[in-house]
Amino acid sequence: MELLTIGTFARASRLSPKALRLYDELDLLPPARVDPDTGYRYYALAQLERARLVAWLRRLGMPLAKIRAVCALDAADAAREIRAYWARVEAETAVRRDLAAFLVEELTGESRGRHTMLELRYAARSDRGHVRPANQDTVYAGRRLLAVADGCGPAGAPASHAAVAALRFLDEAEEPAAGDVLNLLEEAVHGANEAVKDLARAGDGDGEESGTTLTALLWTGSKLALVHIGDSRAYLLRDGGLFRITHDHSVVQSLIDEGRLTEEEAESHPQRALLLKALGASGAPAVPDLRVREARDGDRYLVCSDGLTRVVPDALIRELLAAGSDPEAVAGSLIAAANAAGGPDNVSCVVADVVAARPSVPVG
Ligand code: MN
Repeated sequence: MELLTIGTFARASRLSPKALRLYDELDLLPPARVDPDTGYRYYALAQLERARLVAWLRRLGMPLAKIRAVCALDAADAAREIRAYWARVEAETAVRRDLAAFLVEELTGESRGRHTMLELRYAARSDRGHVRPANQDTVYAGRRLLAVADGCGPAGAPASHAAVAALRFLDEAEEPAAGDVLNLLEEAVHGANEAVKDLARAGDGDGEESGTTLTALLWTGSKLALVHIGDSRAYLLRDGGLFRITHDHSVVQSLIDEGRLTEEEAESHPQRALLLKALGASGAPAVPDLRVREARDGDRYLVCSDGLTRVVPDALIRELLAAGSDPEAVAGSLIAAANAAGGPDNVSCVVADVVAARPSVPVG
């Protein structure tokens, strides 16, 4: 077997000797032979293929632990893992792209003075449905804050209630400066998470965990800041088109993203209720998605729990949102549609229209 020195092997593989030593320590690419006297590392020509794969995966930004796992697979499985990894990177990048655009706008003042005075007209409705013994959803709609939380577990109802309660102060506060709004929301969600965790700790701890989703929109006067964790959803109806503006933090959604499951297969997946992230959940920190959206006169927003989206297809949601002029009536028709489809879960809807502000009437 022809052995190469670490210098020759480094040149051939385009990895630095320093990187090669690190990969040896991590058991990612151990040399074929280590001289027991000098400690010099020697590599076999056949190891070049693995070294090149490692180098390319590093260029993709893949963490070393993940690379080690990929290198242990056969080619077909490795290809699937790389595809899955890249799908996750793209999903994360989409959220960061929005944030970057928002920051550029803030710093350059591009968004200032472009708006007529806008305000929200809103309605919130929640229903137990036809099957569940109690309603564990909590909804809220006010002049600044729109929120839906879907509790699960034995303390699901108090959990969803606590999450929304922790955000309520945002509705009563002064109009937040657009630049502060994400920090405000992040802190509020942190408070909500602590409140839900306290509840879970106070429970009798029979093993089943309690937690809640939280999807909320905060109005700044021209923008809507979105905070989202779990599988409740927010949609925007604009110019007749329906856009989903949240990404489910669910196991099936991640399988769809990674190309392992089709949308159709997901509908009947036995684990479709399993969440990747929720407030109050133990283990991984509950990091929410945060983004800011420019609002337009005529926009209609929907925030809803999965009790709607599991049984009412997007096409019908679009139709019902486009049909009514009054948010209250539209929220009612969405709830009725979920119940007409069997009402298997609690269902909650907040409908909010962005409209030109009515001029304030002088008092006296
Ligand atoms: Mn639900």
